[in-house]
Amino acid sequence: MTQIGQHAIVIGASMSGLLAARALSEFFGTVTIVERDAFPSSDSPRKGVPQGRHAHGLLARGGEVIEAFFPGWTDEVVASGGRRGDIAGDTIWIGHGVTLNTVPSTLRGLLASRPVMEGHVRRRLLRLPNVRAIEGCAVQGLVATPDRSAVQGVRVKLEAGAEQVLLADLVVDTSGRGSSSPAWLEALGYARPEEERVEIGLGYTSRVYRRRPADLGGKLALVIAGHAPNWRNGAVLYQTEDSWMVSIGGYLGDHAPEDEQLFAAYARSLPSPHVYDIASRAEPLTDFVSYRYPANLRRRYERLARFPKGYLVFGDAICSFNPVYGQGMTVAAQEASLLRDCLASGDEADLPLRFFKAVQPVIDVPWDITVGNDLRHPQVAGVRPAKVRFINWYVGKVHKAARHDAKVALAFLEVANLKAPPERLLHPAVVGRVISSNLLRGCSRAPAAHASAQI
Ligand SMILES: Cc1cc2nc3c(=O)[nH]c(=O)nc-3n(C[C@H](O)[C@H](O)[C@H](O)COP(=O)(O)OP(=O)(O)OC[C@H]3O[C@@H](n4cnc5c(N)ncnc54)[C@H](O)[C@@H]3O)c2cc1C
Repeated sequence: MTQIGQHAIVIGASMSGLLAARALSEFFGTVTIVERDAFPSSDSPRKGVPQGRHAHGLLARGGEVIEAFFPGWTDEVVASGGRRGDIAGDTIWIGHGVTLNTVPSTLRGLLASRPVMEGHVRRRLLRLPNVRAIEGCAVQGLVATPDRSAVQGVRVKLEAGAEQVLLADLVVDTSGRGSSSPAWLEALGYARPEEERVEIGLGYTSRVYRRRPADLGGKLALVIAGHAPNWRNGAVLYQTEDSWMVSIGGYLGDHAPEDEQLFAAYARSLPSPHVYDIASRAEPLTDFVSYRYPANLRRRYERLARFPKGYLVFGDAICSFNPVYGQGMTVAAQEASLLRDCLASGDEADLPLRFFKAVQPVIDVPWDITVGNDLRHPQVAGVRPAKVRFINWYVGKVHKAARHDAKVALAFLEVANLKAPPERLLHPAVVGRVISSNLLRGCSRAPAAHASAQI
């Protein structure tokens, strides 16, 4: 690969930062990751990634990309207690009020705690000779050329309080959904990106329980996406041979309480007896912990007319969406692949534009799936154009067919796992099965195109 710069800086060492740094390592003499937290000595949750205490699974597509970046990484996670699983055959999927009929497939997911997955990526990355990390170091702002046409580095504050400037040819912001990029760009005289927010007031309450192999009827995971009239969600994921991560919760303040009996009662209200069985009978291994997720948030950097050279935004800092389908790390992995492609081709000067345009369709897919699903909730405010109403109607029909038809279920899971484009669900063979299955079992009418587009 051609070296295109001496030094690149990555802000944040969570999944996006680590994977972006891996892509950059092929093109820059040195890559420095600047992380506000200290790295934990064991693979335990840390302050800057509070979602690491909640259910995380890695989808097939994300696993493939990370494995290609770090060959042998999956085996290392498995050696630390994680497990490969068949995303169809080993998982119970409940959505649109039905349990999908799944059979063994080639969709391979990875189940392990989030800190274990991240810890293994970080160690592999930091073994590269040209990558280093500065822990306990918070980025405070950007350093730009006098004419502000390019970013030249970052101002950082070290744990001891000292401030410093770090210079670089390229700075990549992977600091998560709380990213300061909009404010930093504004301070340099650029427009803020448009923001799309869909408020969902989601809350997850999680606890780790001792795993008994017969739990979940021997499966390795259970995922529940809420549906009228019961909008509560849940995930039970294999963490290790001996432990389950149970995360349950709901929309708009309907959250699971951090109380033994009330948590079990909430678990009982979910459309699967397995969650209650574990919450009421298995030995708890941790305390309860809660996470509030106010809104799906997408920043439209691809629409900005001006953007400084030498700067990129990446991962949740661009877009973060309801984690119900577990797509965030996979999107970060896909963005890292695209970053590598963008660095390998084209002019450096228009790198930001090329990168933001390239990631847009990659983000569109999970955004449409998850935010579209959230917009089915009648109290979630947002625009529901005809496209969203049609997708939700059709996906409902797909689920109804997938209750009995494992081929339709697999087509849906390939799309939700970001392994196949959404058009897969419109392939004539799938449409035919969806129609015949719905006709056989009774079918409701499509939403009228003139129905209200907004509530
Ligand atoms: C409850 C929940 C469950 C989820 N479950 C799944 C799942 O099952 N599967 C999946 O693929 N995804 C899941 N996700 C999404 C996933 O966690 C994220 O998409 C993924 O971590 C990528 O985020 P990121 O690296 O862009 O940002 P983050 O993970 O938010 O990391 C940002 C990093 O930047 C650092 N930082 C912030 N500001 C600064 C600064 N100024 N200076 C230096 N460092 C800074 C932080 O300390 C942190 O390390 C879930 C998310 C949530 C909330």
